Amino acid sequence: MTARVADIPVAGLFDAARRPEVIEAIRAFYRQVDRRIAGLPGTCWNRGDCCRFGRFGHRLYVTALEVAYYLVAIQPASLTDDACPHAHDGRCHVRDHRPLGCRVFYCDPAARHWQGPLTEQLLARLRAMHEEFGVAYFYADWMVVLQAIGYGHVAASDHRRQTDHRPQGRSR
Ligand code: SF4
Repeated sequence: MTARVADIPVAGLFDAARRPEVIEAIRAFYRQVDRRIAGLPGTCWNRGDCCRFGRFGHRLYVTALEVAYYLVAIQPASLTDDACPHAHDGRCHVRDHRPLGCRVFYCDPAARHWQGPLTEQLLARLRAMHEEFGVAYFYADWMVVLQAIGYGHVAASDHRRQTDHRPQGRSR
């Protein structure tokens, strides 16, 4: 079932974001992910096209622990379109705190063969980390999560037009 804004346990996310052991574990997880991906084929041209979900035609999905880690660095922004509010001038402005999907996804065809299997593997690890830390797991659309934590509205029509291509991913 697709998570809606009301389904996102916002208070639990902020609680998790206040736990140093949780934040350190996600930071270490991302470090490993980045190291692993650095050796794989695929180029990101840093255009940020894939951060504009409405235009690009796919979605970014995130887990609860990723959102907790993101909340440590959150900077309020408004949602005026079906696009990530942290993409400006072809760059990610929350790069160190971007979700797993942003790290794994490349639009470069050279990356296609490894993205799916690696994503499955990493999501399984993330899921296990939720259990280890006692944080309620979800896997929800990034734009829905941003709305839930107070980013305002995204045009419903933009949202409906999308094809579900999970996961979105690495960039920028
Ligand atoms: S890389 Fe991810 S977090 Fe950064 S701007 Fe793009 S969609 Fe947003």
